[in-house]
Amino acid sequence: MTIDNLDGEQLRQKYAEERDKRLNAPAGRKFKRLEQPGHVVDPHLPVQARDPVSDGVDFTFVGGGFSGLITSARVKEAVPTASIRILDQAGDFGGVWYWNRYPGAMCDTAAMVYMPLLEETGHMPSQKYVMGPEIHEHTRRIGRHYDLYKHALFHTAVTAVSWDAETSRWRVQTNRGDDFTTKYLAVGTGPLTVAQLPDIPGVESFGGKAFHTSRWEYEYTGGDRHGAPLTGLADKRVAIIGTGATSIQCVPELAKYAKELLVFQRTPSAVDVRGNHKIDAEWFKAASAEPGWQQRWLDNFTTIWGLIGGRPDEIKKQYEDLVQDGWSELALRVQSVFLSLKPEQMNPEGVMLAMEKSDDETTSRIRARVDEVVTSDPGAAEGLKAWYRQLCKRPTFHDEYLQAFNRPNVTLVDTDGQGVDAITPMGVHALGKDYDVDLIVYASGFEFQNTSFTSRLGFEITGPEGTLTDAWADGMRTLHGRQTRGFPNLFLCQLSQAARFAANVPANFLESARAIAGVVKYMEAEGKSTIDVAKDAQDAWFDLIMSAAARGARDECTPGYYNNEGTLKADKPSPSGLSSGYPGGPVAFFELQREWTRRGLETGVFEGTEVV
Ligand code: NDP
Repeated sequence: MTIDNLDGEQLRQKYAEERDKRLNAPAGRKFKRLEQPGHVVDPHLPVQARDPVSDGVDFTFVGGGFSGLITSARVKEAVPTASIRILDQAGDFGGVWYWNRYPGAMCDTAAMVYMPLLEETGHMPSQKYVMGPEIHEHTRRIGRHYDLYKHALFHTAVTAVSWDAETSRWRVQTNRGDDFTTKYLAVGTGPLTVAQLPDIPGVESFGGKAFHTSRWEYEYTGGDRHGAPLTGLADKRVAIIGTGATSIQCVPELAKYAKELLVFQRTPSAVDVRGNHKIDAEWFKAASAEPGWQQRWLDNFTTIWGLIGGRPDEIKKQYEDLVQDGWSELALRVQSVFLSLKPEQMNPEGVMLAMEKSDDETTSRIRARVDEVVTSDPGAAEGLKAWYRQLCKRPTFHDEYLQAFNRPNVTLVDTDGQGVDAITPMGVHALGKDYDVDLIVYASGFEFQNTSFTSRLGFEITGPEGTLTDAWADGMRTLHGRQTRGFPNLFLCQLSQAARFAANVPANFLESARAIAGVVKYMEAEGKSTIDVAKDAQDAWFDLIMSAAARGARDECTPGYYNNEGTLKADKPSPSGLSSGYPGGPVAFFELQREWTRRGLETGVFEGTEVV
């Protein structure tokens, strides 16, 4: 038996050993913030002087990424007379695509579904998977198309939000001296906004250059985010700490231009084939000929992805795969294993069995790919193999990452689960050894569920009965993940307690925007002043979410942000975790939302809420 031919049981044992190694690493798995929310330093655009605002508007969105753009656009369509305001700490629209300008930044979800409002804006993506600058430009395009720039206040961080019971409006204060009121408030600051560094000794002591991937300094590295050579690195020894989805994209570019590149790895990513290609104009014309084409693509992608953990009746049906990317292939592989089971196995346990069998095949193939690609250094090849189930960590797809380790200037410093344990004035300390470098790039990720919602937001929301922090002291409580009792006219655009496992983040925002715009449309047409959640409805939603949450928490998984660094357990799931969502999966959740909105608009009853 070779290590790559392990059977299911042996694999499970190997996974458990690797997980424990990482969980028990002496350096721990702690992070600290790069900067406090509200005090971010923008290396990309200078802050423009402006006068503070002190007026009243109808609808305010905190966040100028996809959720803010889509929701504001839909509210504008639904109520053309509504006055709108969009606030963001960045200097432009774009959200994660504004901040993350590291070389090689791209999206590994197919552009036909990842880029929202393609049909409305008439944009044809240049490639199946597009680069970061094209996505950022698309956010700007949406801003122009819906005339949203005139509503935006950039480089502006909210400092406090409080409910004024007399006027039934929210009061919003910012770090630019703004103090205004709004009838409706929506918050969508993104799941990966607060950049984090490893909490290890000496980070402040480093005497060379250091930055986080989301604060890339091209002035130092040379080049630009459009792919111009990083000429400033020609004589530099560079360390990159972290090997998650960001590092996978960034390493090939650093490898091309740095004199020497040291890749510090704690846990390898599983890197599958990406297979990018240009989009042909004739093909796109045909694919986008019918009105409603992008919604059909989105629904198709959600349907196929929903097969993961799906209901046996759904998983038995055949589906056309319009998108054909790594995500849909993964789901269809699970389906094909399920369909090969005996009829008596076609039940929920059979779905789990199919997922495991398919996973064993896939992860073995991905490990074999490492050996095929990394031919110059068998030690590095061994270190680059991921020993955990594919969905324990974010699956990645790239055709140049593994290849970079064949270059003579690139070294994998595999810490075997221990991690980098200190930064020195000269460089990085790991496994008892010092590595002197000129530049440290922290590809160490973002806060996800290791801190409270309001602490990541960076401001408190004080409703008529108290703060959101207090209301959620024992965990997040919502209706549909979007509204929470005691906070009238507040909408949360985020992923928890909503479409469980919906892989395509913007699709979630398209659906929540539809619901929010529907509520605002109804309330404005009927002269209503507030909408709040009914307590029993919120409790029932929470119980429903928790009935499925345990299924999502995999004790066997290696630690990472998906399982809150290994602290989520099947018997202690997080109500706000990534896998906490509607038990029926994303298709059923989106259907429920559409029906909820349709019925609300028709009858005035938005089920589970109290409209006054
Ligand atoms: P991640 O949180 O995924 O990765 C952080 C990395 O830092 C991990 O490899 C982690 O190791 C490592 N790390 C932390 N502390 C140490 C230490 N002391 N020593 C060594 N290594 C350490 O962040 P990313 O920025 O890579 O990705 C975040 C998310 O952003 C992705 O999961 C994805 O959702 C999104 N993204 C999406 C892209 C797309 O194409 N759509 C592209 C890029 C990002 P360990 O694994 O052991 O914890």
